[in-house]
Amino acid sequence: MKLSSLFEQGKTVFSFEIFPPKKTSSIDTIYSTLEGLKDLKPAFISVTYGAGGTMTEAGHSKTCEIASIIKNKYDITPVAHLTCVNSTKAQVEAELNSLKENGIENILALRGDINPDIPRCYDFKYASELVSFIKERGDFHISGACYPEVHNDADNMVDDILNLKKKIDAGVTHLMSQLFFDNNAFYSFVEKARIAGVNVPIEAGIMPVTNKSQIERMVTMCGASLPQKFVKVMQKFENNPEALRDAGIAYAIDQIVDLISSGVDGIHLYTMNNPYVARKISEAVGNLL
Ligand code: FAD
Repeated sequence: MKLSSLFEQGKTVFSFEIFPPKKTSSIDTIYSTLEGLKDLKPAFISVTYGAGGTMTEAGHSKTCEIASIIKNKYDITPVAHLTCVNSTKAQVEAELNSLKENGIENILALRGDINPDIPRCYDFKYASELVSFIKERGDFHISGACYPEVHNDADNMVDDILNLKKKIDAGVTHLMSQLFFDNNAFYSFVEKARIAGVNVPIEAGIMPVTNKSQIERMVTMCGASLPQKFVKVMQKFENNPEALRDAGIAYAIDQIVDLISSGVDGIHLYTMNNPYVARKISEAVGNLL
């Protein structure tokens, strides 16, 4: 099923993100995550893509293989992430062919982070170029990423939103946002994006913070601002792992309730492959969707 049909129904879409097992782990370890998520009935599950993609013995990327498992074994709509910053056009073309062969219809088209330790490839400079390339090669539904608190490389919000509009003009018909902890930042971003003509559904990316190292990692990587309420909660429980986990879940639920009440198009939950956390949140907000 293409994602566009989900948003035509006028309800808040509730979706999950998972990531493939590490290079050293078997792909089979993903089954325990998926077994824990399957009866939570997400509208779709998206699967992240590592720089350049990690190949399986079958010659597909792990992302493609897991998306195929989500579709065929669990009968849930998958979305395959695809980055281009470390890939040649031939590599991207091969990945698109794999996705087609496996009946994967939805792609989150991304540039990927520029990592000085991984050789950069210049076949694609921006995600919008990848979007145009995908459009010429198949009938995929194409999603894109957006940044409520401005992408790290952008000089300012105005430039970032004008660049986002280029991605829409290239063929993106749905956006998933970077994680944020301050809903007002998201509302303000959506308002500006709409004024700039970004008229596609925008899902809010919510990451439940459930341990201390996650906070530090996420904040350095994405530059998300931390509201006082969030900092207070995290400081109070930082040395009590169970309390911190429960407080992180409660904070995410509070964010989601506010977003749904404000008419958000969708919630994209970064599950971190943790079915316990995804279940607690899904159960708390299920009747609101
Ligand atoms: P782009 O849309 O290309 O934007 C990158 C920067 O370039 C921005 O600053 C933008 O303003 C600027 N820009 C864009 N177009 C132009 C232009 N024409 N002229 C000048 N400047 C321009 N990374 C992974 O490696 N794997 C994943 O699976 C993954 N999943 C993600 C999922 C979500 C929901 C999000 C929000 C991010 C994800 N990322 C993932 C991270 C993402 O790859 C990085 O944030 C990356 O740095 C930017 O990707 P992008 O597709 O947003 O890039």
